[in-house]
Amino acid sequence: MTVRVRFAPSPTGPLHIGGLRTALFNYLFARKHGGTFILRIEDTDQTRFVPGAEEYIIETFRWCGIKIDEGQTVGGPHEPYRQSERAEIYRKYVQQLIDNGWAYYAFDTPETLEELRKEAEANGKTFTYDASTRMSMKNSLTMPQSELQRLIADSTPYAVRFKIPQNREVEMNDIIRGHITVNTSTLDDKILIKSDGLPTYHLANVVDDHLMGITHVIRGEEWLPSLPLHILLYEAFGWLDSMPQFAHLPLILKPEGKGKLSKRDGDKAGFPVFPLRWVSPEGEVSRGYREDGYLPQAVVNLLALLGWNPGTEQELFTMDELCQLFDLERVSKSGARFDPEKARWFNHQHLQICSKDFLVVEFVKLLKERDIVARTEYISKVLDLIRDRLYFIQDLWEQGHFFFERPVEFEPKTVQKRWKAELVSHLAKIASIIAASKPFEAQQIKADVSAYIEQNGLGFGVVANALRLALVGDAKGPDLFSIIELLGGEEVTARIDFAIHNIKL
Ligand code: GLU
Repeated sequence: MTVRVRFAPSPTGPLHIGGLRTALFNYLFARKHGGTFILRIEDTDQTRFVPGAEEYIIETFRWCGIKIDEGQTVGGPHEPYRQSERAEIYRKYVQQLIDNGWAYYAFDTPETLEELRKEAEANGKTFTYDASTRMSMKNSLTMPQSELQRLIADSTPYAVRFKIPQNREVEMNDIIRGHITVNTSTLDDKILIKSDGLPTYHLANVVDDHLMGITHVIRGEEWLPSLPLHILLYEAFGWLDSMPQFAHLPLILKPEGKGKLSKRDGDKAGFPVFPLRWVSPEGEVSRGYREDGYLPQAVVNLLALLGWNPGTEQELFTMDELCQLFDLERVSKSGARFDPEKARWFNHQHLQICSKDFLVVEFVKLLKERDIVARTEYISKVLDLIRDRLYFIQDLWEQGHFFFERPVEFEPKTVQKRWKAELVSHLAKIASIIAASKPFEAQQIKADVSAYIEQNGLGFGVVANALRLALVGDAKGPDLFSIIELLGGEEVTARIDFAIHNIKL
């Protein structure tokens, strides 16, 4: 059996990282087993359709390196892969269910149903369209054939409902959750085809999984309650023999550990819950991992470990490694807590191991935005000095700007603490010692400066702090003498001179 899995999002908004994790697990599972990864767009609910949501998913996959084997953008043997374009198919299949007694026409108007709901509510109950009520409703089970034909001929709006068998145990197997039994008395006669002629999620989902030869349905835990209905649908169609296996993934939980991770949690604590920035049709902006300076490798890595573990201590993985290691056996039942600090850590780690060429390109972009041109070799040397300080792509500038621009302002607190009037005359001298240092290398410069400090009875720390302030504008940065080596004697002299004349005590 060749594995065929699908990610089947409804384009109702930007893809949440929970959805991306589901897509990733499907993709990894397909790769691990040499199978096929399908993207199917479940857009039959026209009222919830959001323009741009489908493109957002495709762009997210491109960014993360998730390659679609079959789907609207790449084609495949089961086109179309967008459910709104498959309405005819579902109508044909639902007819089969009506013909063999598994489904029926229901003509109850929304008003009638609303009234029944209200009435039940007034009595502290909930109205369910099921075995206990269906025979008192206006449907093809309760009317003569002639009336049914008349209503259909008159184009009276109707829905098609599934006829849930009465009082039966539905047996289910879930790869992650094991064996589950549900009695049909807890299920209602779900609508399969709505009055607009389009199918509901349940019908379209099952029909397509069957037609597309899906072998494993890997999806979020929120779909577990739908599983008994889906199993009954497979039975009703006579497809039990080729039914896919199911795996319901655990929820991604809030940083506090309770409840599903939501956009609000991200907004509150300042981290994104979407892979890419999203602007809603109403203009509301949601931040994205990409725009926040995350590497896609880090996002893939951190999502892979939300609910799955490799069974070892290893935490850093590339996509290729994950494709080899991933399996559903190691997906946990319990929810996976999202830790924004850990996300930062993953990004820091991946910034240490990603290709240097990539970082150079990113650096050039940031420099260009500021009209700065620099040689690749120089950028590369800057990277060697600041790489271990990077947490986000933007840190390239945060941590390295002073290699490309002279400080013209000096951080006031640092000035107060580190700029001593009696040092000023020495700094001019030190500048000339630095400029004359040969070879012009960190170690030699340090030795020459240290000798001067000793001869003049100065403190090394005091001088170094003042020098750093003059060169960087701040108290931060990598090793001082490496900064000096890279800036060069002339630039260092100019900066010290500028600082002497511009720092006011
Ligand atoms: N369209 C459903 C969703 O939006 C798919 C669920 C499934 O994978 O069966 O998540």
